[in-house]
Amino acid sequence: MPTTDVLTSADLAEIRRSALGTADPLGVAADLADAVDQGRLADPDDAGDALTLAAEIAEIRSRLDAALRYADRAVAAYPTRDDARAGRARALRARILFRVGGREDEAMAELDALRPLLTQQPDAPAYVSAALDAGGRTATADEWLSEAVDTLLGQRAAASGEPAQALTEPAVEVGPPEAPGVLFFLLQQRHRVRRDLNLPHDRHDDLADRLEAQLVRRAQQRPAGETDLVFFPRAEFDRLLAEQAALTDVYGPDWDAHRARLEKELVRQAGAGRGGLHVLRGSVDELTGRGDVTDPQVRAGYARELETRPAARIPWPPERNDACWCGSGLKYKKCCLPRSRS
Ligand SMILES: [Zn+2]
Ligand SMILES: [Zn+2]
Repeated sequence: MPTTDVLTSADLAEIRRSALGTADPLGVAADLADAVDQGRLADPDDAGDALTLAAEIAEIRSRLDAALRYADRAVAAYPTRDDARAGRARALRARILFRVGGREDEAMAELDALRPLLTQQPDAPAYVSAALDAGGRTATADEWLSEAVDTLLGQRAAASGEPAQALTEPAVEVGPPEAPGVLFFLLQQRHRVRRDLNLPHDRHDDLADRLEAQLVRRAQQRPAGETDLVFFPRAEFDRLLAEQAALTDVYGPDWDAHRARLEKELVRQAGAGRGGLHVLRGSVDELTGRGDVTDPQVRAGYARELETRPAARIPWPPERNDACWCGSGLKYKKCCLPRSRS
């Protein structure tokens, strides 16, 4: 863990992956906060993410006072309340408040404010229900998720002129396999929450199962030549090729080629009219844990797994002047944007 270096977005991703395995995770968390205070972030826009990470580390170590301090600062560091990343930090703050004890009302106020995001942001169903779980409010999670599902299905029904009950396969909301929509994530969380509560499998749970099967089927039916969008951050990529030289053909001979291949594929998909595009942040340990990585089915299975995990998705494209999606710490226009033309 560097203590005086500038931290790039890629460094933060690496710290997220490795912090808990280090001898002193709380020291890592303190260093992250110091990096913010001392202006040592390559992209100042990462301050909220760095402080959220510090709060997560402290929370896992049950240092709740420190966790809450970092979470308060993380929430304040995001430029707007509507920032998708701010929602995650707020939910984390609520989770910590539940654990602190005696501050349940504040936790619920925070989560109430996030409730509208349930129908808007694909990540929100997971982080809001995780916070409610932590507060022993799993039944409330069921209630909120159910209402959000009804809202979205009601909107779709109104748009199509059909009764909501008839909409059993809302394909547009579910989106293509590489970009499932918010309804899919709502149904998935609701399904999990209801299983935890031992509630009977209902009509919407059937829909959740059907949509998941549909996504897997569609992913499998993609043309063989179509590339998956698994992205390995620099350190991961170097490890991948060191351990699995055979994958050069699949993911690219070096990190520049790896990023160029992804950027070109994304530009192609955007040109074909696809929205909600993103790359999927992969990990070498996870991929190699799934079986023989030279088997395309194993790699495709891992890509599908990542697609169902909101935290793995890195939205694309960034704004021209924003940090590049690859985590290099450079602006998009100076980094991967030009790669699509090479
Ligand atoms: Zn089920
Ligand atoms: Zn880049």
